[in-house]
Amino acid sequence: MTTAALIVAAGRGQRAGGGVPKQWRPLAGKRVADWTLAAFRAAGVDRIVLVLSAEDTAAWAEFADSDLILAEGGADRAGSVLNGLRALAGSGVDKVLIHDVARPCISAEVITAVRDALDQAPGAAPALAVTDALWTGADGEVTGTRDRSGLYAAQTPQGFHYDAILQAHLAHPGGAADDVEVARAHGLRVQIVPGDANNLKITRPEDFARAEHILGADMDIRLGNGYDVHRFGEGDSVILCGVEIAHERGLLGHSDADVGMHAVTDAIYGALAEGDIGQHFPPSDPQWKGAASEIFLRHAADLARTRGFTLSNVDCTLVCEYPKIGPRAQEMRVEMARILGIEVDRVSIKATTSERLGFTGRKEGIAALATAALVKA
Ligand code: MG
Repeated sequence: MTTAALIVAAGRGQRAGGGVPKQWRPLAGKRVADWTLAAFRAAGVDRIVLVLSAEDTAAWAEFADSDLILAEGGADRAGSVLNGLRALAGSGVDKVLIHDVARPCISAEVITAVRDALDQAPGAAPALAVTDALWTGADGEVTGTRDRSGLYAAQTPQGFHYDAILQAHLAHPGGAADDVEVARAHGLRVQIVPGDANNLKITRPEDFARAEHILGADMDIRLGNGYDVHRFGEGDSVILCGVEIAHERGLLGHSDADVGMHAVTDAIYGALAEGDIGQHFPPSDPQWKGAASEIFLRHAADLARTRGFTLSNVDCTLVCEYPKIGPRAQEMRVEMARILGIEVDRVSIKATTSERLGFTGRKEGIAALATAALVKA
């Protein structure tokens, strides 16, 4: 089955403010239309028809060489849809999902639900059962009430078998509120699939703020850095990022002296503006003597989660002339990812020498730098 999305973007609606049609207004770093197109691309439709006003010459030029099929808007919305349907003629499309460009928060789940429902019915569309009480009113006063049972608020995309909706539009006299009305007038059965309250249609100026919130534009991203040094001393191994490496010397420190893990831990505390390891685990407290640094790292990661943050990634650089880090770096990534409770591909461990300069170059100790990124959506 081949599915096309038909995005109606020919409207000149400026009620939403901004002085240009709302589909070309910026929203969370892109234009409204870009979000809508991206949603259908992400949902894996086979073709996308974009219906544009003849006046939008910049958009025609911009999309001319893209993968989109372009069609010109008609005298009204139904005319635009019909032009879009005609642009798909002979392309072998079985299902078409007709969508308002001004609904940029459409989810892949709703798109997929409409497409799948078309396996059972010639038409399918998302809707929300009306839960608010319904009134009639005039001159700012309530004039009556209406029974809301059996009432739905319609959304898009409204999906249909291609040949059926093309015939329905060709036969319709005009004036329909949406494509479901056109389809039903032609005798097509339309199945209701669950809509999504986030699938709002941008109509008024304040709808932009709500859409930005839904699209995650108010995401909270925190970065932190960490730096630590431990001096070489007596011993026959070092522990770096949770991995023990046989070595002719050990690292001195109050805990297990895992300099890499300490730097990452401090980076997480830093992102949270929560001080550093010494503040949470004072070296003066004997209970942390010889402690596994895993305790510190786990505490920092748990603190981030308690604050509502997801640990997006950490990156740690170990600075030393020896031991050789490269052959053990993968083990370190796996161990750090396990303690942090994140995927290994979110943990980077790398190493450098300091070209024999400074204290690391003189092999007096090991330094570590780290960055951590925390995200709250
Ligand atoms: Mg330390």
